[in-house]
Amino acid sequence: MHLPPPVHPDRSGLDEGLLKAVVAGAARLTPEQSFEIHERMPLETLGFWADRRCRALHGEALRSYVIDRNINYTNVCTAKCTFCAFRRDLGDEDAYVLDRDVLLAKIEELAAIGGTQILMQGGMHPDLPLSWYVELLEAIGSRYPQIHVHAFSPPEFIEFVRFFDPPGDTLHEKVRAIMEPLRKAGLDSVPGGGGEIFADAVRRKIGLGKCTAEAWLTVMRVAHELGMNTSATMMFGHIEGIADRIHHMELVRRWQDRDLADFARDGGGSCKAFISWPFQRENTPLGRVPDWGRGEGDDLSEPFPGDVVAQLDGSGSKDLHPQFGRRVRMAGASAYLRTQAVSRLHLDNIWSIGSSWVTMGPHIGQVGLRFGANDMGSVMMEENVVSSAGTTYCLNEPTLCRLIRDAGFVPAQRNNEYDLIRIHDGPESPDLAIGDWSALRAHRLHQQANREVDGPRNATVELTVSDAGSA
Ligand code: SF4
Repeated sequence: MHLPPPVHPDRSGLDEGLLKAVVAGAARLTPEQSFEIHERMPLETLGFWADRRCRALHGEALRSYVIDRNINYTNVCTAKCTFCAFRRDLGDEDAYVLDRDVLLAKIEELAAIGGTQILMQGGMHPDLPLSWYVELLEAIGSRYPQIHVHAFSPPEFIEFVRFFDPPGDTLHEKVRAIMEPLRKAGLDSVPGGGGEIFADAVRRKIGLGKCTAEAWLTVMRVAHELGMNTSATMMFGHIEGIADRIHHMELVRRWQDRDLADFARDGGGSCKAFISWPFQRENTPLGRVPDWGRGEGDDLSEPFPGDVVAQLDGSGSKDLHPQFGRRVRMAGASAYLRTQAVSRLHLDNIWSIGSSWVTMGPHIGQVGLRFGANDMGSVMMEENVVSSAGTTYCLNEPTLCRLIRDAGFVPAQRNNEYDLIRIHDGPESPDLAIGDWSALRAHRLHQQANREVDGPRNATVELTVSDAGSA
């Protein structure tokens, strides 16, 4: 029986005794306490506590990564998220749907370098029938049974409900009617793409045509009920307030409590990981919104509009500030590390916190391992979505391992279940086997087409945040 640790709402979030209990898993933070920590705790102190909590869960020695491939089977999308540079309309010149053979060839390449999973997401394409997805999953499963299929984020499932009109009286039943055949055909787990920010006022501004938070969480509940694991994500550093970020984490924690209580005994799944990353603005409509302080009439002595609107219970109304949604507050390195560290402390029932180095750069991602993250995300062979919005970092497996080792840990390759499958503590480790690092500098994604690879294990592959996909 899952019993969450007790809360102590009378204590300050800065109370050392409370934080020691949180580290030990003997207490949990209230949203008010996490907000207080975010706003008032010095960054290095926050990192210290998040790191201690991470070490209590994951030990002192190992930090992980995964080798997978991000396959975006289509860029056609019925939604019009203002932060998205990837989507296309049906009929656009560069709209695509990947042929099955092309898609299978990508998986073949992944298998050849020891990859263990694909992260497969759209676009939400209105003309693909359910049989297209079922047959695709069956084809993948029959040819590559060793590859874990982590696919179709909650917004895609909600659009599947709209496209396919399955039987059922509730959204839960309708999602289940679609997820069951996909599960049977080979779907292994559901990625947490499309989380963005759950608070309705923010979601309505940035995720046009995208599902509500409740619908998002319902999809994950069905996945857990069917025995599949999931992840949760948050994209921050745009129009939202700090309280919106805490509210987002609180919803993830609350639904995880409920699903663990309802399904864990009967072999149910759970949310395994939380990954957050800052909004990338290039080539996106939201990116053209002025930064707070640079718009006409802005007064930096006044609070950021998102903070005026945001409420810890998610009830904020856009009417509370005339400039809400018309100004952004981008997140830099310290804002990123602060948010990630709070997520480690607040999300006491989530096993893994991923470091989002792909958006912040490899070295901030590395520092993230000292701010509560236990996982450096993915070694990927392909990335189409974050790179569309201007982020161009990429690394190979040896470099990723070196980053983890230089941060003071032994790198370990994991699978989608977060089991460690290769611990790199010997001379044959991908990083320790490299004699000349001059040829292994991080490349830019736009160079990937011209790059030569020098063998399967040392193949230069691209990395990004696991689950950052599109939909
Ligand atoms: S983020 Fe995903 S759901 Fe939103 S427009 Fe882009 S592809 Fe579509």
